Amino acid sequence: MSTFPFPAPCTPADGPCRSYRPRHLVHMIQAKYLRLTPDGWRDGIVGELGPRGTAVVHYLAGGRVTVWNHHGFAVAAPAGSPVRIHERYHALQSGRAVLCVQVLGRAAAQVTVP
Ligand SMILES: [Zn+2]
Repeated sequence: MSTFPFPAPCTPADGPCRSYRPRHLVHMIQAKYLRLTPDGWRDGIVGELGPRGTAVVHYLAGGRVTVWNHHGFAVAAPAGSPVRIHERYHALQSGRAVLCVQVLGRAAAQVTVP
């Protein structure tokens, strides 16, 4: 896993987030690129929710990724939720909700040799 430093909190801290920095709000240009690259989505299931707004998503095809979002995932994508991740354009979709995320780390699928 990466030792990526956690990104800056939302600004302003006393109101709703208005930041389009990575991992905060989905910008309309980001949404456009997500629509233009549908082959970039990978299906997964949310596993553990970690401290400070992280979640581990287990890809159905194998491997896992740890992501962060400024609001966390407890409401939009709690543990056990089917989601899909678009790593190239930093997005997680859960139902109709699309969240901007930062990939903090990833692990490849384990290969078992018989
Ligand atoms: Zn924010």
